[in-house]
Amino acid sequence: MIAQRVPVLLAFGANLGDRGETIRAAQQRLAEADGVLDLVASPLRETIALTVDGPDDDAPRYLNGVATAETTLDPHQLLDLVQSIESDYGRVRDTHWGDRTLDIDIMLFGGRVVSDERLQIPHPHAFERDFVLAPWLDLDPDAVLMGHGRVTELLARIGDTTRRFEEPTDATL
Ligand code: ATP
Ligand code: CA
Ligand code: CA
Repeated sequence: MIAQRVPVLLAFGANLGDRGETIRAAQQRLAEADGVLDLVASPLRETIALTVDGPDDDAPRYLNGVATAETTLDPHQLLDLVQSIESDYGRVRDTHWGDRTLDIDIMLFGGRVVSDERLQIPHPHAFERDFVLAPWLDLDPDAVLMGHGRVTELLARIGDTTRRFEEPTDATL
């Protein structure tokens, strides 16, 4: 039996180390992984760090981007894969929403709803994060977020604080 290909949306963030290179290398790893096909990555955007106490101008700024892909993995296998890539890039899990070299979240997994102790899909904060919505719109101006509607309208509602980040010309996938 040929496994079904499910479209997914992944979100990437980094605010320590060589942020852009880390995100692009992680996306390359994903693009080459078994069970991940047709990965297309957005431009990167820069934002102020969001901590549990709110936006923090003193923390290193984030680079964020998203990628669309198709996968034959199941949601938990995809989470295992993204977490193994995070740990390969030195991600240490300590402070909730603290500084990190790499964060990869699964935003959407086809039309699936997953809710267990390891996984919440659709990602519960997707609709209110400009650093997810803005790069997603860069990839797909007609994007629609399951349960929330058109991404252009969501972003207009929350406001876009992100800025396009100029990468070295050889950096994009
Ligand atoms: P947030 O999810 O609000 O962006 P975070 O990315 O900082 O927070 P992490 O410390 O990276 O949170 O992850 C904590 C746990 O969240 C992970 O170990 C994972 O099991 C769980 N998790 C739940 N839903 C998802 C999802 N859709 N994508 C990735 N991880 C998820
Ligand atoms: Ca996150
Ligand atoms: Ca995460």
